[in-house]
Amino acid sequence: MDPRGATSTVEEALERIRSAGGRITPTKRLLLEILTADPTHRTTDELTAAVQAESPDVAASTTYRILEELERIGLVEHSHAGKGPATYHLRTAAHGHLVCQVCGTMTEADPSLFVELITEAAARYGFSVDPHHFAVLGECTRCGSIEA
Ligand SMILES: [Zn+2]
Ligand SMILES: [Zn+2]
Ligand SMILES: [Zn+2]
Repeated sequence: MDPRGATSTVEEALERIRSAGGRITPTKRLLLEILTADPTHRTTDELTAAVQAESPDVAASTTYRILEELERIGLVEHSHAGKGPATYHLRTAAHGHLVCQVCGTMTEADPSLFVELITEAAARYGFSVDPHHFAVLGECTRCGSIEA
């Protein structure tokens, strides 16, 4: 995964929170450390479990509230990979998700794949496409070739 354009360090992220007028709490710092250490997409439940592994008293609602705040100031974003809950990760360079409807494998797609879609949707419909938010569903090579 290429984190171009991402907030790469916890300190940078904390600086962004401060300049947005937010308060730095130990739990916020911990959650940012967890998000920075592992760039995979995780659900709020998974992130709460990771926080609680270090700090057992933190409630799920706290994790949820912090994620909402981080998303509001643009540090974190979420996406939906077909069924199942939304997953969160630090905001990275724009990318899309290709999700296999058969086995659930997710492929992170290069943003160049969506350039034409974004341009044409804007030109024809005045519609601004966000290719990251929802996954493009289909079948991966492995599952597609089973039927072929
Ligand atoms: Zn959403
Ligand atoms: Zn598959
Ligand atoms: Zn992603």
